[in-house]
Amino acid sequence: MNTSNVDPAELAKFSDLAHRWWDVNSEFRPLHQINPLRLDWINGLAGLKDKRVLDVGCGGGILADAMARAGATVTGIDLATKSLKVAQLHALESQTPNVNYREISAEALAAETPAQFDVVTCMEMLEHVPDPASIVKACATLVKPGGWVFFSTLNRNPKSFLFAIIGAEYVLNLLPKGTHEYAKFIRPAELAADCRSVGLDVQASKGLQYNPITRRYWLDGNTSVNYMLATRRFD
Ligand code: SAH
Repeated sequence: MNTSNVDPAELAKFSDLAHRWWDVNSEFRPLHQINPLRLDWINGLAGLKDKRVLDVGCGGGILADAMARAGATVTGIDLATKSLKVAQLHALESQTPNVNYREISAEALAAETPAQFDVVTCMEMLEHVPDPASIVKACATLVKPGGWVFFSTLNRNPKSFLFAIIGAEYVLNLLPKGTHEYAKFIRPAELAADCRSVGLDVQASKGLQYNPITRRYWLDGNTSVNYMLATRRFD
């Protein structure tokens, strides 16, 4: 089991901001804005109602909470203690049904309860870990045969450097400087190869676009910057 697949500096970044997870005008505004888009996409493909769902790297629970409200029974896991406390408190305050949070790595949970979840989501997280392939493998172990695993991350090319780092962190100030590191970005073909090697077949992909003038996000087929992959375990 891999227990060292974590970058403490990455966890500290998110923990330091933890009190702002549910402030829609904070550093987490982009996650709040993209949340309905990704929720709809996931729900449309996997059908969340009455499903058992795991959200890996759940942070303050923005997606986990929304999936529970869509009718799933959701477990959110992360390794940033403060973020998990915020997620728990939010669920309590807003009386979200059927959501719980645990501080455990994906790899450890995979060893503990393999093939338990109908749907696994792992959004905006792979680009923050030392060994993303190990997370992909853990997700493949955690999902039931026939179940869905969703990933989102940032593509690696000159445009994504310009948009996701220079644009988002230095020009538009959408994200704190240093949020993302170019070398950790993952090309869709690389992520798809990691998925295939652990028995996850790519079913669909979407790109996420942002217009800085209207401050709106939308999904389309262009995966050149921020993108999502929908995969399924067949075995
Ligand atoms: N998935 C959430 C939060 C994304 S922010 C969303 O899209 O709304 C990235 C999250 O990954 C943070 O909460 C951070 O604490 C978490 N993270 C980073 N490294 C991790 C690791 N090794 N294991 C679990 N979570 C991790």
